[in-house]
Amino acid sequence: MKKSEFLELPEIQKWQKATSNNTTQFRMYLHKLLIICNTNQITISDILDTDNHLYKMIEIYNNFKQKVAQGEIVHTRNVNDSPTNFTKYATALKSFFGSQGFYIPPKFEFEQRKGLPNYAEIELTDAERDQGLVHFGGLGDPKLLQAFALQSEIFCRISALLEWKNNLEIRDDEVDGIPVKYGYINKFYEPKQHTTWNKRVLNKGILDILEDIPQGEPIFADATKDYKEYCDELRVFYRSIGKIRQNEKSVKQTDSWYYDNYPTHSVRHSSTRQALRRTGGNYSIIASMGWNSEGIVRQIYSKPDEELVLRQSHCEYCNPPKFKLESERFCTFEHFLAYQYNDSKPKSGINEVDKWKKIAMELRSQVVS
Ligand SMILES: [Zn+2]
Repeated sequence: MKKSEFLELPEIQKWQKATSNNTTQFRMYLHKLLIICNTNQITISDILDTDNHLYKMIEIYNNFKQKVAQGEIVHTRNVNDSPTNFTKYATALKSFFGSQGFYIPPKFEFEQRKGLPNYAEIELTDAERDQGLVHFGGLGDPKLLQAFALQSEIFCRISALLEWKNNLEIRDDEVDGIPVKYGYINKFYEPKQHTTWNKRVLNKGILDILEDIPQGEPIFADATKDYKEYCDELRVFYRSIGKIRQNEKSVKQTDSWYYDNYPTHSVRHSSTRQALRRTGGNYSIIASMGWNSEGIVRQIYSKPDEELVLRQSHCEYCNPPKFKLESERFCTFEHFLAYQYNDSKPKSGINEVDKWKKIAMELRSQVVS
């Protein structure tokens, strides 16, 4: 097909209109798409004939790369070279599909990046987690609620949750003169790691939910059946809050795919990030509660994101942010406890002098040790 014919197609005109703010870029993409069509011997109608546009894009892209590798590229101009970098072809496809009203996820990529896939942003906000509790609470089956509640606090694997027999101990403590309560689980066994970790349940509401599990009993009576039910119900919940999108869920690399394929592991991811939010991003404390090394937590579960970098010192209790954050942050677990048992109010009488005294003390203790 020639460029002039191509430009007359209504779909291409629609695309041109949608990208009218950058005509140079449009012309470049237009050439790329035309090269793809001519090389793959497909038409625009072939391209758009799909019920899964993300799959279709990858298919077109891979066919194209293969033809190029076989020396079968059909150029729009009189040149002989073969492209070695395909980024612009990929972007052209995304731009074209986007202009036709198809949704393209922001992080969507055509090729698996080298190294580990990036699912380190799987996370529920506080509000979403609470919605989850309401969702599971509304099912009238305490075990599903208890499973979701516990996993949301102790970031364990499902295999461990299935084996666990309740040994939750309620402990009383005091922070800043405020009486606090938390749950302690001694030697929680993770079969996959063949090791145990001491776990803590710090969320007040979740502790109330877990208090109903009989001591010495597992949450699930029938591991196979209940596990399936838990996964299915998690998917229903994720769909209800938009974490699983129909048009993304079969495409690897998207968060939707991860939530759909690893519903329980997503809870592990999310609660790991939550724990980091409660400790001012203290990777070593979090790692000590479930991993052999800090690096794994950093790479797989939670890369230091913008929020963590910028808000490391924010603490709803001792250093409240000026604006309400999407999810609460604390400098330490103690302050998360104190805040909850202080009627969700910040420490009274915080002043600049105290703040700097505290910082000076921390610095001094670092120097001494
Ligand atoms: Zn604090």
